[in-house]
Amino acid sequence: MIATQTRSFTYDPLPGRVVFGNGVRGRIPDEADRLGVKRLLVLATPEQRETATEVASSLGNRVAGVFAEAAMHVPVETAHAARETAARLGADGFLAVGGGSTTGLAKAIALVSSLPILAVPTTYAGSEMTPIYGITENGLKTTGRDPRVLPRTVIYDPELTLSLPASLSAASGLNAMAHALDALYAPDANPIVSLMSEESIAAFARALPQIVRDPGALAARSDALYAAWLAGSALGAVGMGLHHKLCHTLGGTFNLPHAQTHAVVLPHAIAYNAPFAAEALARAARALGVADAAAVPAAIYDLALAIGAPVSLAALGMPASGLDEAADVAARNPYPNPRPLERSAIRALLQDAYDGRRPG
Ligand code: NAD
Repeated sequence: MIATQTRSFTYDPLPGRVVFGNGVRGRIPDEADRLGVKRLLVLATPEQRETATEVASSLGNRVAGVFAEAAMHVPVETAHAARETAARLGADGFLAVGGGSTTGLAKAIALVSSLPILAVPTTYAGSEMTPIYGITENGLKTTGRDPRVLPRTVIYDPELTLSLPASLSAASGLNAMAHALDALYAPDANPIVSLMSEESIAAFARALPQIVRDPGALAARSDALYAAWLAGSALGAVGMGLHHKLCHTLGGTFNLPHAQTHAVVLPHAIAYNAPFAAEALARAARALGVADAAAVPAAIYDLALAIGAPVSLAALGMPASGLDEAADVAARNPYPNPRPLERSAIRALLQDAYDGRRPG
């Protein structure tokens, strides 16, 4: 194809070391040495206490303790308790074994202590690649960016994702794919992040159906975790648009589950933006094997259906009476998005997502 436009961009990569491969959790002691940490506090959710303890076992007496109380959206009380535990045990670093909730807890402690995080992700959420933190107090989630919370080392071991149930794998994968899609048309998009995003979308599109058919398929698990790394990198590198704003509002105000909400909203948010981001979304079309940007929303919806991800907000417990409020919040504060934020069109988008209608 002949070039028709000149390029203009800023590229400002984040630091961080990534170690990826089956069994690389065995390298955690070496990675801890590289960081010079000698007393790691291991973090997990209550459900993943055993996994985290097992993953940390190779560290021997370099484990200062285990704090397995991570919870969705980092409640401020949990963050305080974890900070106290870290100080009491004299921890000099954190080993976060789990999904976005566990990484988020590590970030909340690092924010005040500046101690290094070694992240071992077990979902596709992508938080491990971003300097974004969030803490929830009185039902209100405050988020921010701070380089101190960016994990220093990320250990991606696909074997640790084998236990992620098919339904959560599907939703978590679409959650991550949303990072890659919103990144394609971000105002600060750049060629490297766009390449990573396209590759991420393609890898998720081929891996997720295989994983849902056979959650034990290690090659597909590896492909999906690779896609999650790329998507998380995109999330950390460029600003997110309408899709992320809507999910943040729906999750925060109506307490909807994080990954599932992303899965439902994604085709509709992309349908809203597609006519205004045709060139950027041509990459997504290529990755999904469809003709052009206009075909991307339906392709995502069909993928969600095929992998058994939820497709309607109603099924997630969203009250119909909340759609107006969600549209108000999403349209109120301006933020970068390819298509201008029109309250009535956003309200229609939310209705489609509520009803689970196939876009286009
Ligand atoms: P999660 O971390 O809450 O995990 C969901 C459940 O799955 C938990 O019970 C967990 O223990 C379990 N689980 C995780 N991995 C498993 C595995 N391999 N096998 C079996 N069970 C497993 O869910 P999530 O979707 O990963 O993270 C959501 C949270 O992360 C939200 O609070 C969201 O806001 C945050 N997040 C933050 C960023 C950021 O950049 N700051 C990015 C993405 C998500």
